[in-house]
Amino acid sequence: MLGKLLVIGFGPGSFDHMTNRAQTAIQESDCIIGYKTYVDLIQDLLSDQEIISTGMSEEVSRAQAAVRLAEEGKTVAVISSGDAGVYGMAGLVYEVLIEKGWTEATGVSVEVIPGVSASNSCASLLGAPIMHDSCTISLSDHLTPWELIEKRIKAAAQADFVISLYNPKSGRRTRQIQEAQRILLEYRSPKTPVGLVKSAYREREHIVITDLENMLNYDIGMLTTVVIGNSSTVLYDNKMITPRGYQRKYTLHTTEQRLKPHERLRHENEPWALHQGKNDLDLAKDQTAATAVETIVPKKTSLELAQEALSKVKGTSNQLLEKKTVNNPVVSIFELAVSTGVANKQFTPKQMMTLAEVVGDDGTMEYTPHHQIHLRIPTATPEVITEKLKSVGFILEPLGDVFQLKACDFCEGEKKDSIPYAEELHQKLSGLELPKELKVGFNGCGMACYGAVNDDIGIIFRKGKFDLFLGAKTVGRTAHAGQPVAEGIQPDQIVELIEKIICEYKEKGHPNERLFKYFKRVGSIQGYTYKDMTPKIEIEPAPCGD
Ligand code: SF4
Repeated sequence: MLGKLLVIGFGPGSFDHMTNRAQTAIQESDCIIGYKTYVDLIQDLLSDQEIISTGMSEEVSRAQAAVRLAEEGKTVAVISSGDAGVYGMAGLVYEVLIEKGWTEATGVSVEVIPGVSASNSCASLLGAPIMHDSCTISLSDHLTPWELIEKRIKAAAQADFVISLYNPKSGRRTRQIQEAQRILLEYRSPKTPVGLVKSAYREREHIVITDLENMLNYDIGMLTTVVIGNSSTVLYDNKMITPRGYQRKYTLHTTEQRLKPHERLRHENEPWALHQGKNDLDLAKDQTAATAVETIVPKKTSLELAQEALSKVKGTSNQLLEKKTVNNPVVSIFELAVSTGVANKQFTPKQMMTLAEVVGDDGTMEYTPHHQIHLRIPTATPEVITEKLKSVGFILEPLGDVFQLKACDFCEGEKKDSIPYAEELHQKLSGLELPKELKVGFNGCGMACYGAVNDDIGIIFRKGKFDLFLGAKTVGRTAHAGQPVAEGIQPDQIVELIEKIICEYKEKGHPNERLFKYFKRVGSIQGYTYKDMTPKIEIEPAPCGD
């Protein structure tokens, strides 16, 4: 039995502004998946649902987990604030489903539940600023090139749209809102009304009404929506109002109107319209004249017009442009990790030269504590790069939330008895996608000088057998070594045992959940019982958290 995906927009945050369907959908779910802050906002609606809450920028893993759980038969609520289909999770959930070949007829059922988007909730607090044509633009350039965002701001500013700016600023993105203001000032009066609404309908709601020239003098942050008026927007009694145009035809301060109801749709009473106040007969004459001109001047195709325009702008011939397009295929950044081997930590000159060649002037390489080099190379042909690297003996691995094996150098191969087991594990599991990156430390003797006990899984070869450590926590004030769970594991059992542990964690771990957290949550992995390894010492409260 397949389950159901409920992709819910719960509005600004207060229950009064949440749709009835959003509330019932949350209550009928087996599992709630969302950004931690959002889960906190709907806490009072929850009963015994399983909660999977992760941090910002974990949207993809949330969508993947939701699809996986729905495929297992659960009713899964994926929650977004505002509207799930406006910078929310709805699109991403569909994209993940499409990647898996989902169709409505055969796959899990999907219901997208609309909510009140920030532009609407913020506008209601400002007065009525988006009464006329408007648009929303996100200033976040994490996923969208800034060049494109800039183009959209310019176009919207030129076209006199009321503009709602989402994600205007964050700790790291501070220039984007300044750039947006600069562009808007090229097209709009500095006195254009602007509304800044932070945390609409939440506890810390804050509203400022200002103008385009002065907007940056106020606090703008991650939770602010910036509403920029158009050329008609006015300020009245600290409210932003954008007239829709009724005053062109109606007298708003009297009940007596100049035009009778039957006169209001006559062409002559709408000189601003496409027909420019001309009656049907005049329009027919204009049409005939236009057709006559068209028959004399042959029309160019849109491709011909585009090529002509490009050649004028670039001052080059069409042939050259075509050639350039053919020779410049789409380039993206190819990321991967390379190493010289499980036990081998030495590089040959040829390998170093090959690295320099494939990385070139535009790429980067970074040596990591895990004895890998991470490469980031702009290329349209990643397969050429992988071929070259493999030809000189590099082992290639993907980056991200994957299984990584970090072995010692086995005293430069002198303590080599356990190398075959490390190589087998590497061959079977390296690069395997997991809920969170997972490092396995494999050391060739009890000295454990490469710190295997400080990895997610530590394996130490001692007196012809293996000791196993699980769930080290390497950072934070409660950092601790892995829990020693077994000693004297027979060599012919170690690979299978690690495979079982990894499979269990892959299948049952929550997205972004490190192994130590998983071990603590479930209490037992493959029969090994969790023991709290957190150091029992009094620590002064840290100013920056754990
Ligand atoms: S852990 Fe043991 S085998 Fe490995 S490098 Fe250190 S001393 Fe050598």
